[in-house]
Amino acid sequence: MPTCIFCDILAGLAPANFIHRDDLCAAFMDIRPVNPGHILVVPRTHATLVSELDEVTVGRILQVAQRVDVALRASGIKCEAVNLIISDGAAAGQEVPHVHMHVIPRFRSDGHHFRFSLAYFTRTPASELGKNAELIRIHMGG
Ligand code: AMP
Ligand code: ZN
Repeated sequence: MPTCIFCDILAGLAPANFIHRDDLCAAFMDIRPVNPGHILVVPRTHATLVSELDEVTVGRILQVAQRVDVALRASGIKCEAVNLIISDGAAAGQEVPHVHMHVIPRFRSDGHHFRFSLAYFTRTPASELGKNAELIRIHMGG
């Protein structure tokens, strides 16, 4: 398997500023923060996609992100709001192929914006929403 920087960090082979570690995940400072205080929550198991992880680990990632969110707001670091983001696959912008949730402090004047194509601003017909819901629903399992 090619080396993975997040596996190296978790194994203590690469440096990081940890703020949390437990049996399933860890959280450390992003080396290139979008805003000061940007943190990554990662599972200890190597997996590229969320779908490769067990449900307990997926749940723990969000639980830890919630605690980080609360800690950030209390920290004194500028934080009016928080983005919790997982880019799940390269086409979604994932650069490091080890699942990670970004916890990014945000404030109104920070200058960052998500950009959507013009299609986003046109309302989708109900028939298309219904068709897509059916395509997804039949694969939901459980
Ligand atoms: P993504 O584009 O969602 O895959 O985000 C990857 C994130 O990992 C980026 O925000 C990087 O700044 C961050 N990153 C990459 N290498 C390191 C590292 N060695 N330590 C901490 N964060 C890192
Ligand atoms: Zn890894």
